[in-house]
Amino acid sequence: MLLDPPLPEVAFVGRSNVGKSSLLNALVGRRIAKISGTPGKTRALNVFLIPNLGSGESGVVRDGADGKVPLPTPHSLYFLDLPGYGYARVGKAQRAAFRGLVKHALRRERLRGVVWLLDIRHPLSVDDQAMQDALAEEDAQVLAAITKGDKLSQGKRSTRERELREELGLPEEQVMVTSATTGAGIQDLKDAIAGLIAGVPQ
Ligand code: GDP
Repeated sequence: MLLDPPLPEVAFVGRSNVGKSSLLNALVGRRIAKISGTPGKTRALNVFLIPNLGSGESGVVRDGADGKVPLPTPHSLYFLDLPGYGYARVGKAQRAAFRGLVKHALRRERLRGVVWLLDIRHPLSVDDQAMQDALAEEDAQVLAAITKGDKLSQGKRSTRERELREELGLPEEQVMVTSATTGAGIQDLKDAIAGLIAGVPQ
């Protein structure tokens, strides 16, 4: 699937019910993703054009105190929203189709990275481990977005963040605790995504 205009792409993956739709809505600041009522219902790849991640301003020149101040380059990109995985009642054929979809997405020429969502309360599932293997195999740039941070107290949240970081083997700046409910960590994630697109080494 070729997207027009050609822009950098960032994929979002996570098990169903991890909070992916909610996080996408929180990132974009309006309702772009349908919140799933039935887990495992969305099977197709959804693509969202994000005109300017983060600022809500257009990337034109504006007047500043000392004359014209250029705004930062707008971070226009596509979000590729992959179907949630790990839904128990999915058959073998669908699992294989999902694996193919992931592989295809990870090999896309303009893919700059993957936001991998993990629920703060749960250990990595077998399906999460399969995703971890796929991400490693394709050498993907990964940002781990730990979801539903508000479900734990501050102390437990920090503990889980550290545990997950160790389990994932990712550096601190690639793991962030988020909450679509409180908005915590959303700006950090936006900044990290902007870093992926700008090609800032992670
Ligand atoms: P998806 O299946 O991964 O797209 O998950 P949804 O975004 O539909 O969320 C699944 C459930 O988790 C819903 O009941 C959401 O209201 C809830 N949820 C999602 N994000 C958060 C969060 O940050 N905090 C809390 N407390 N609940 C959340």
